[in-house]
Amino acid sequence: MLYQRSSQLFAEAEKVIPGGVNSPVRAFKYVGGTPIFVKEAKGAYLYDEDGNRLIDYINSWGPMILGHAYAPVVNAVIEKAKKGTSFGMPTEIETQIAELAVSMVPNIDKIRFVNSGTEACMSAIRLARGFTGRDKFIKFAGCYHGHSDSFLIQAGSGAITFGSPNSPGVTEGTAKDTLLANYNDIENVKALFEANKNQIAAIIIEPVAGNMGCIPPKNGFLNDLRRLCDENNTLLIFDEVMTGFRLAKGGAQELYDVKADVVCFGKVIGGGLPVGAFAARKEIMNYLAPLGPVYQAGTLSGNPLAMAAGLTMLQELNADSQIFKRLEEKTAYLEKGIREVLTKNNIEYTINRVGSMISVHFDKDEVYDFNTSKNGDNQRFKDFFHGLVKEGVYIAPSAYETWFITDALTYEDLDFTIAAIDTVSKKL
Ligand code: PLP
Repeated sequence: MLYQRSSQLFAEAEKVIPGGVNSPVRAFKYVGGTPIFVKEAKGAYLYDEDGNRLIDYINSWGPMILGHAYAPVVNAVIEKAKKGTSFGMPTEIETQIAELAVSMVPNIDKIRFVNSGTEACMSAIRLARGFTGRDKFIKFAGCYHGHSDSFLIQAGSGAITFGSPNSPGVTEGTAKDTLLANYNDIENVKALFEANKNQIAAIIIEPVAGNMGCIPPKNGFLNDLRRLCDENNTLLIFDEVMTGFRLAKGGAQELYDVKADVVCFGKVIGGGLPVGAFAARKEIMNYLAPLGPVYQAGTLSGNPLAMAAGLTMLQELNADSQIFKRLEEKTAYLEKGIREVLTKNNIEYTINRVGSMISVHFDKDEVYDFNTSKNGDNQRFKDFFHGLVKEGVYIAPSAYETWFITDALTYEDLDFTIAAIDTVSKKL
């Protein structure tokens, strides 16, 4: 495969865009080499600027659950664009997508649309603070909730101590209200509640973590969080930016039968356009301006093109009673195939999977939190990544990312991928 044009485009981009990219993970810093510049994509395939075809296992980091350039979504956007691209005034389509989302997801009465997952999580925290009158919240090490200041906190020494900033620009003042816990460690969460009585507004969690590879919640973990929140008058926020409209119609709440107080969305809900949303029962949502005192706004929020893409995507998912089963079956098939070839080639691995979220770790031990996610063989992952690209398969350029399976993948594509993993793993 040749990457001349991608290299050239990257060199040009680096002159005018920091690191040549508008979001850091695209820069290949983790795996090395030159980022691949996409020219177009259709279904399960990416076509790059050098004319290579790659089977896509990132799918824009989740949104393209039905494949790239999915005709109903594309057509809906084209038709909407002809009527104007933004008004900053209410439109009927906003209510249509809100009604549909509320009907698909359990435990929510009202939803507000924003422009990204970051905005959704940031606003959800503000709402929880306003609603409870408390400042602190608990997040889990290794969970990502966007790049808003209070989320960019790493695990400090001892989870009961205050967090410390891990990005310059995040002040100590902000960091001290973010309490860190270890994923899947309920004792740790209990200790935080003990040490911060009546001060914790919310727990925010990825109900299936997807930003340290894919990490499922241990049996009962989400229920235990629910109970602790109830006991402490704390809101439970599910960040379903990845899991929402992917693991089930009603997301992780439905899959695990656990009730969240506030739910954040992004990715699939926008059908590939910039959309996020947060939702809750009405007494919480009514705390938002203009009804309530918690301010939240956006010039382009509820943008007609974004709403057209999102509404069409949700309608397609809602109408297809087999979609989540099909995604599960395809991903299970892929998992089985990968297990077989890695075992045959004597590679130590752990595979985590929930529905159509899957990650391969080059470590034989269980991966269940941020610390264990860091134990994998990084060099092996890099070789694996570059080897797969050569074979025409594109996975996330980082061992800490989940693969997102699209319904556009055929069983032939999956067999092709498993054969590619066989070839590559022989050389690892
Ligand atoms: N929450 C989760 C779980 C995410 O995975 C992401 C992004 O990957 C975000 C929030 C932030 O979303 P966005 O990148 O749209 O701001």
